[in-house]
Amino acid sequence: MTRSPRRVSWALRLSVVTLALLLTVRADKPWHQGVLVGMEVGPTGAQFAGGRHAGDYARHFNGREIVRRCAEANAEYLVLWVRDGDFTFHDSKLVPRPAGLAGRDVLREAVDEARRHRLPLIAYCQLQYPAHELREHPDWKARSADGQPINHLVCFNSPYTNVVKELLAELATYGIEGFHLDMVDQGFGPPHGCWCDRCQTLFQARYNRPLPTGIDWEDDGWALMRRFRYDTSDGFEKMLTAHVRRLNPRATVDFNYHGNPPFSWEVGQTPVAHAANGDFVTGEAGLWGFGALSASFNAAWYRAATPGKPFQVAVQRGVRMYHDQTTRPLHDMRWELFTLLAHGAFVTMIDKTAYDGGLDPVAYERIGTLLGEARGKRAHFGQVPVAEVGICFSVATRDGYGRDQPAPYFQSVQGAHKACVYEHLGFGFLFDENLSLAALQQYPVVCLAHTAILSDREIALLREYVEAGGRLLVTGQSGQLDARGKLLGHPPLTELIGARVREHLEGLDYWMRFAGAPIPGTGTTGFADHAEGDAAGRNAQRQQDVQLARASLRVGPPDWPFLVRGPATCYEPTTALPIGELLDSHRAALANPDAYNRDWPLSAREVIGPAVLLNHVGRGLVLTLAGSPDFATAGEHHIVEARRLFAQAVRFLHPNPRVRITAPANVEAVVTDDASTRTLRIHLMAYNATPQTTPAKDRPYVLPGLIEDAPIYRVRAVFRDPVKKASALNPGTALKRRGRTLDATLTDVHEVLVVRY
Ligand SMILES: [Zn+2]
Repeated sequence: MTRSPRRVSWALRLSVVTLALLLTVRADKPWHQGVLVGMEVGPTGAQFAGGRHAGDYARHFNGREIVRRCAEANAEYLVLWVRDGDFTFHDSKLVPRPAGLAGRDVLREAVDEARRHRLPLIAYCQLQYPAHELREHPDWKARSADGQPINHLVCFNSPYTNVVKELLAELATYGIEGFHLDMVDQGFGPPHGCWCDRCQTLFQARYNRPLPTGIDWEDDGWALMRRFRYDTSDGFEKMLTAHVRRLNPRATVDFNYHGNPPFSWEVGQTPVAHAANGDFVTGEAGLWGFGALSASFNAAWYRAATPGKPFQVAVQRGVRMYHDQTTRPLHDMRWELFTLLAHGAFVTMIDKTAYDGGLDPVAYERIGTLLGEARGKRAHFGQVPVAEVGICFSVATRDGYGRDQPAPYFQSVQGAHKACVYEHLGFGFLFDENLSLAALQQYPVVCLAHTAILSDREIALLREYVEAGGRLLVTGQSGQLDARGKLLGHPPLTELIGARVREHLEGLDYWMRFAGAPIPGTGTTGFADHAEGDAAGRNAQRQQDVQLARASLRVGPPDWPFLVRGPATCYEPTTALPIGELLDSHRAALANPDAYNRDWPLSAREVIGPAVLLNHVGRGLVLTLAGSPDFATAGEHHIVEARRLFAQAVRFLHPNPRVRITAPANVEAVVTDDASTRTLRIHLMAYNATPQTTPAKDRPYVLPGLIEDAPIYRVRAVFRDPVKKASALNPGTALKRRGRTLDATLTDVHEVLVVRY
C-alpha cells in the first residue's frame, strides 16, 4: 500500500522528532547529576513474615499509582522497591512475586508511567538476606568460625553472585535508569562469617596460609582475615558494577554504604574504598537509628569519602522506623532534609506503603510540600562548604584499637563533630585511607580526635602540614598505639606534640583546671604564673602564646576544675609550653576502683600533669589537649565547658575565620562559598524538638520528640572581609547589618542568609 504524501510527511516528522528526542536523551547528563530530592517507595512487610504473607499483602502496590503520586509530590526520581529477600515485583524467572499482586508486574507499570512523567526510575534490589535463594541453596549461607551456617547471611564468594547477575539482567530489560543495590554487609553483629569452604580455599590461595580459626586480635592472620573480608565486599561490588555497565552503560549503580560509624569491621567495609564503588555513594541518616546529628555527620562523611562526586542520603517519613505506618510532622522532616541539602547531599525520602500497598494521602501531601520547597530553593544548594576543622578518622584505629568495641573510639570522632555543630564551626572529615597533604590543607585546623593509631606515612604528612603553617589539634591518646593496638615505647607524635608521654592513663574520670595562680609542686603551670615566669624575656613568642591561650581557653572561673570525661594522657613537656592542669579523680584513691560505679564519674582529686600543650613546629602550631573534650561532648556526662574548651582551642588555632557565627546550640550553621558570584551563604537549621515523657521501656533512654513548631531565635555573623550586601530568603527574617556584623532574628526551621562580598 502506498502512503499519501501527507502521511509520509507526518511519519517523517515523527521519526525526526523521535530521533531528536533520543539524541537529547543521549546527550543528557545522567539522572543523578544536579538532582536534589527524590523518593523511594516499597511495601511495608517486605523482609518480614518469612515470605508467608496474608493474601492482601501488596495487593494495591501499584507502579502506575506510585509514579503518579511521587511525581505530584515533586520527586525528581523514584527508587522503586523491586526485589527483596522473599519476593520480587517484576516478572521474573528467578524469584516469585507475592500472591496478592495477582500476576501484575509492578515494575512494568512503573516504567510505563515514569516515561510519561519523564521521571527517572531506579530499581531497588536487595543483595544481602536473600531468603528465597538460601531456602533453595542452603550451602550458599555464610558460616561462622565453628562451621555452623549463619541462616540469614549469604556468602558473597558463593554462586549466589551468578543469580544476582541474572536478576539484574532481567531488570535491565525494562529500560530503567539505574540500580540501587542494598546492603553489602557481612552482618551487623555476631555471629560473624565467613568460614565456608569456598572462603577457606580462596584465603589459602591468596595468603598461602589457612584462615585463622576465629576472631583473635593478637593473631596476624586476623588482620589478613579482615583484609579478606573487605576485599570480598569490594570485589562483589566491583563485579556487579562492571556487570551493570555491560548491561547498560547509561544505567547508574549505587550501593547502600556502611563504612561510617556506628558500623565497623564486622560489616566488611572501610570508609573510602567501599564508598567509591558505583556511580555515587548512598547512605542512611535518621533519628530512628543514629540520632539527630547523623544528618550532618553522615552527609559530611560521604562528601569526604567520595570527593567531587554527588552523594545520596536516604531518610524516611516514619516517626520511628521505616515500616511503622506513622508520619512525621512537616517541620521535623524539613529540619532533616535541609540539613542534608545544606551539606550538599541529594536526598531520598523513603515511604513504606500500607501492608496492602496503599499510599497514605497525608504523607504524600507533606512530602509534596517538603520536596517542593527544596526544589524552590535549588539555587542555594551545591556550593563549596567553608570548613575550619578537618576531623580525622582512622580505620586503623577503628580496627586495631576499637576491635570488638569501636564505640568508644567513635565517641571521640562523633564528639568532635557534635562540638563543631553546637559551636558553629565548619567541619569536614579526613580519612587515613586516602590522606594526602592536599586533603589536610583544605582545613586551617586538623583534629586528631583520640586517633590512637597513626602510621609513619600519616605522621610524615601531618608534620609536613604543620611545618607549612597548618594548625594541629590533638586529643586523648592520639598516636600512642602500634598497628595491633599495643602501647608504643616512643610514640611517633612526641616531636610534634613537644611532650613525652609520661603515662598512658587508664579510665575516663579526668578533670581540667586553668588556675588563676601557680599550683606549687605540680611541675605544671596555671595561666597566671607562666606569663610572669616568662616576663624575664626568655621567649617573647611563648609569652604571647600564654596571653592568647589565657584569653582563648578559659571556659569557667579560674581555679574551678571541670570534668572532661574521656581518655587522657599524662604528658611531660619537652619543647611545648604547658598550660593549665589535668587532674585525676577520687577513684584513683579507692582500694578497688572498679567496684565503684563505673558509669558515673567521680570528683576531682589532684593534679597529675598539664591540661594543654602548645608547640611551635615550623610555621605551624600544635595544640594538644591532655584529655578528651570531644569524647566528653558525645558522652552521657557532657558538660558545656568541655565542649567550649574544644571550640575555643579551635578558635585559638584559627582566630580569624571568614565568618564567626553566634547562634543557639540547637541551631546548625553551614557556610558555603560561591567564588564565581562572590556569595557566601549561611544555612541555618534549627533543631527544635519537643519534650518527652517517661518511656514505657528501656528507661531512662528517652527518644527525642518531634519538631512541631518553627522556633524564633537570633544569630550574629561577623565577617572577616568587607560585605557588600546581605539578604535572607524568608521575608519574616529581620536583618540588621553594621559594617561586617550581621544580626538576624529568624522564625523558621531553615533559613539562608545570602551575603555578597
Ligand atoms: Zn564464605
